[in-house]
Amino acid sequence: MEKTDNQGCCSEHDRCLEILQLVLDGEASDTEKEYYMHHIEECMPCYRNYNIESEIRNILRSKLEKKPVPTDLVTVIRSKVNETA
Ligand SMILES: [Zn+2]
Repeated sequence: MEKTDNQGCCSEHDRCLEILQLVLDGEASDTEKEYYMHHIEECMPCYRNYNIESEIRNILRSKLEKKPVPTDLVTVIRSKVNETA
């Protein structure tokens, strides 16, 4: 498939977000995982979301492990999401 210049818009954004949560929670089926991994190769907003959300999860995980984490980092990342939304 051709890479389309669709930065900033995703025709299936709601579905993508849903699947993204499943993928990151490790609850996605193989089909869903495959769909998403293929999708983010072509969909810049979803690719970004994937990186941002997995980064947030890493931070939250570090927090659970009581590693020192800059407390405002999640806020910074979240505001980045809002900028691009
Ligand atoms: Zn998408």
